[in-house]
Amino acid sequence: DNIHITLKDIDHLANTSFPLCMRHLFYKLREDHHLKHGGRMQFGLFLKGVGLSLDDALAFWRDEFSKKVGLDRFEKEYAYGIRHNFGKEGKRIDYTPFSCQRIISSVPSVGNHNGCPYRHFSDENLRAALGKMGVGGRSLDDVMDKVKNHHYQLACTLTFEAIHSSSCDTGINHPNQFFVESQKILQ
Ligand code: SF4
Repeated sequence: DNIHITLKDIDHLANTSFPLCMRHLFYKLREDHHLKHGGRMQFGLFLKGVGLSLDDALAFWRDEFSKKVGLDRFEKEYAYGIRHNFGKEGKRIDYTPFSCQRIISSVPSVGNHNGCPYRHFSDENLRAALGKMGVGGRSLDDVMDKVKNHHYQLACTLTFEAIHSSSCDTGINHPNQFFVESQKILQ
């Protein structure tokens, strides 16, 4: 897949093609102008995976973080981690975005906002978040039913199908796959 996204696309794409785990991190970042390490890793690698360049990634995080910690601290404490994710620092490993399995089995610590909302949100918060995505009525009940039975990826697949009014026969197993499948339908 040759999708490349740029800075100005992010808001729009977050609303149309990001899975709930990444929407949540995106909105928390916009709200708090900060994300803790777990959230930065999960979301940063996802953005890299959807084709955001290193320069755009730096600009994106800098825009938000500088509102909270200032430009200096951003450059000193956070820019390294972003370049690191792109394999430009340290051991120069080109890190890959996390799969659903990895995210679902993670244990998000307080305030990190990483993890899978289907697994890690309370029922009430999950219903509210799904409502904001436009999932309601029978579809919402079906999603919550999968969650109750611990089928988190199926819940995400049903969400995908509800918001795209289209089937997803392969099922969702990776946040970046969610994005690519969504773009196939919407583009
Ligand atoms: Fe994200 Fe995967 Fe959970 Fe969907 S099932 S919200 S893509 S971790």
